[in-house]
Amino acid sequence: MEIKETGLRFNGSLRPRTSTQRIIIHHSASSDVPASTIHGWHLARGWSGIGYHYVIRKNGSIERGRYEYLIGAHAGSRGNPDSIGICLTGNFSNAPPEEAQIQALVWLIKDIWKRYTHLELIGHRDVMATDCPGEKFPWTELQKRLEENPVAEQWKLDIMEEAKNTGIISSEHKPDDRADKWFVLAVALNVIKVLKNK
Ligand SMILES: [Zn+2]
Repeated sequence: MEIKETGLRFNGSLRPRTSTQRIIIHHSASSDVPASTIHGWHLARGWSGIGYHYVIRKNGSIERGRYEYLIGAHAGSRGNPDSIGICLTGNFSNAPPEEAQIQALVWLIKDIWKRYTHLELIGHRDVMATDCPGEKFPWTELQKRLEENPVAEQWKLDIMEEAKNTGIISSEHKPDDRADKWFVLAVALNVIKVLKNK
């Protein structure tokens, strides 16, 4: 999967976030519209442009809104300053998201986790008086899928690559392997380094 660039033009100056603590999920409460349409709606409200960082369409394609490092406009003064906003198109008060949307969302969240660790995952309604992202949004299913294939933190990927290059492992360690397995690998690599330098 990939993030589709949209090249949207924003008014005024957008500011970078100084703190990123959570991902806030929304529905568009509309039909399956592109990010450019939402951009138009938000411009019409007098905002700088689309308030979400990402839009996930019904077919599972992921479109860029605001750049991820910038403060969004999607969850009020309590939610915006420390969050990344993802909007799935559709109205989940009526029907749940498409399977393709959930798959894309899981991919996107894991992709964001590579850049920002320990983010809380919440809905718009957790920070404001709204139903968004709707009663039919599948929170339990989302959590389950996120836990099924834990994302590899960068240090684990680095260790795994180094260990394979050194020849001390041939198969991949899994991101959710027990901590002591990773510890042993890290120690082994350091021992090799020390011996080489002697
Ligand atoms: Zn919302």
